[in-house]
Amino acid sequence: MTLLFRNATILTMDKAHGTTPFSGDVLVEGDSIAAIGANLEAPDGARIIDATGRLLMPGLVNAHMHSSETFFKGRYQNMPLEVWMLYSYPLLMKGPIAPRLLYLRSLITAMESLKAGVTTMIDDFFDPPGFDFDRLKLVFDAYDASGIRANVSHCVIDKHVFDTMPYLRDLIPADLQAQIAGPTITPDDYIAYCREVFASQHGRSGRLGFMVSASAPQRCSVAMMQACLALAQDKGVPYHTHVLETKTQAVTGPEFYGKSLIGYMRDIGMLTPNTTIAHSIWVSDEDMALMGEADCSIAHNVISNLKLGSGIAPIRRLLDAGVHVGLGTDGMSSNDTARIFDVMRFAGLVHDIAGPDTDRWMTAAEVLRSATIEGARTALLDKVTGSLEVGKRADLVMIDLSGYDYMPMNRLDHHLVYCENGSNIRMVVANGAVVVEDSRLTTVDEAAVFAELRELLPAYMAEHAELEKLNARFDPYMREMHRRATIQDIGIHRYQGDLPLWPGRNSAG
Ligand SMILES: [Zn+2]
Repeated sequence: MTLLFRNATILTMDKAHGTTPFSGDVLVEGDSIAAIGANLEAPDGARIIDATGRLLMPGLVNAHMHSSETFFKGRYQNMPLEVWMLYSYPLLMKGPIAPRLLYLRSLITAMESLKAGVTTMIDDFFDPPGFDFDRLKLVFDAYDASGIRANVSHCVIDKHVFDTMPYLRDLIPADLQAQIAGPTITPDDYIAYCREVFASQHGRSGRLGFMVSASAPQRCSVAMMQACLALAQDKGVPYHTHVLETKTQAVTGPEFYGKSLIGYMRDIGMLTPNTTIAHSIWVSDEDMALMGEADCSIAHNVISNLKLGSGIAPIRRLLDAGVHVGLGTDGMSSNDTARIFDVMRFAGLVHDIAGPDTDRWMTAAEVLRSATIEGARTALLDKVTGSLEVGKRADLVMIDLSGYDYMPMNRLDHHLVYCENGSNIRMVVANGAVVVEDSRLTTVDEAAVFAELRELLPAYMAEHAELEKLNARFDPYMREMHRRATIQDIGIHRYQGDLPLWPGRNSAG
C-alpha cells in the first residue's frame, strides 16, 4: 500500500527537527517511510490523504506493560505492589486462563493500544505456572492479527515467592507456606524454550519480536539471570526486568545481598545497553550513576507507580546520569488503561513537585522523546521506529488539530503533553498499514470481540473472585511485611507529601 499524506503538520522527533513541527507531505511505501518533504509527487496508485489541519507524529511506544492483567482494569485500589500482586497474580491458582480468553485478552490489549496511538507495545507476558509454547504463540497470533508492533517476553521467576521478599519466611505460618510450591524451571530449560520462540516467532510479519525477561534480580537465580542476559545479547534484544519499584524492594537488596539491587546487578554483570529496567524508583545516586555508565534504559510507569503508591521515580537525575527513559503504562491492573497520552501528561506534571528549581522539571519535549524515540531505544527498536525518518518503518499517528484541545494553538509539544488524551486521533498507521481510521480498527471486528468477551468473561471473573478470597489468607502477612520494610529510614525519599510513614506506629520498635 502506498499512502501520501498531503499538507500535514509534521512532528518527526528525529535529530534534525526534534519537537519543532513543520508543514509538508509524507509518503509511505510498503512498510516504510519513503519521503518527507514539500509537494511530493504521488506515485501511481497511491492513496492520497488530505492532512490539512492535521498532525502526523510517530506512533507512541508503550515501553512496559503486562497483557496478563488486562481483565483486571478498574478492579483494585489502595494496595501496595506486594499486596496487590496477591490478587492480580494469585499465589493460589487453579491453572492458567483458557486459550481462547488468552487470545482475546492479548487481542483487546493490542486493540485498545492502537486506538490510543500506541504502535509499539512492550508486553512482558506472564503466564504461570508453566512455559507453554502454544500459549505464548496465541499472544503472537493476536498481535499479528491486530497489526501492532510488539516486543513480547515470557517472564521467568525461578525463586520461591517467599524468598523474594524480606521477612515473609518469619511472618507466614508454616502451614500456609506449605501450600505454595516453588517454581521448577531451570536456566537450561528456560533458555531452550526461548530459543524455540526466537526460531519461530521473532521477526514475525516484520513487526513482532521476542525479548528475554527475568522478572527481577531478587526473584531469579544468578545463573538464570546470566543465561537470560547472554541470550538477549546474542539475539540483540532487550533483557527486560523490574528493579526497585517499591521501598520494600529497596530494603530487600541490603537484607538479601548487603547492597542495593542495582549494585547487586552490577556485580553479577547485569547492567548493559540491553538492560531495560521497569520502574527504577528507589534508586540511589550511586545506582543511577551505575545505570548511566552502563547505558541502561528504564521504563517510567508513572501512573502505575501512583496507583500502587510505589513512589515517584527521580527522572531528572536518571536523565542527567545518561539513562534512556521510555514511558510505560505497566499492566492494566495498576494503570487501568493503555493510554500513553495519559502517562505523558502525568510525567509532564508530577516531576514539577520534586523541587522548586524549574530548570530541573521535565519539559514537554522531553516527555515526547520518552514516548517516542527514547521509548523505542528502551526496546532496542530505535533504528526501526520512534521517529518519522525516511527508511524507518511507517508507524505514525494522525491527529486532528481543529478541536478544543488545540484552540488556540500555542506550542504543539505543550498541547500534545498537557491537552491531548488520544481523543483527537483520526488515523493510526503501523508498519505501513492503516490500522485505525475514523476511530475504528480496520484489522479486527471490534463488535465481535466485545460480544465474545461479554459471553466468556463472567465465568472467568467469578472464578477469579473465588481466587481472590482464597489468596486473602496471605493478605495480613504481606501488609505486615510492607509495614516493616517501609517504616525504615533508608535515606532515600520517593513518597510525596508529609504524611507520617505509619501514624501511631512510626518507629520500628
Ligand atoms: Zn511490570
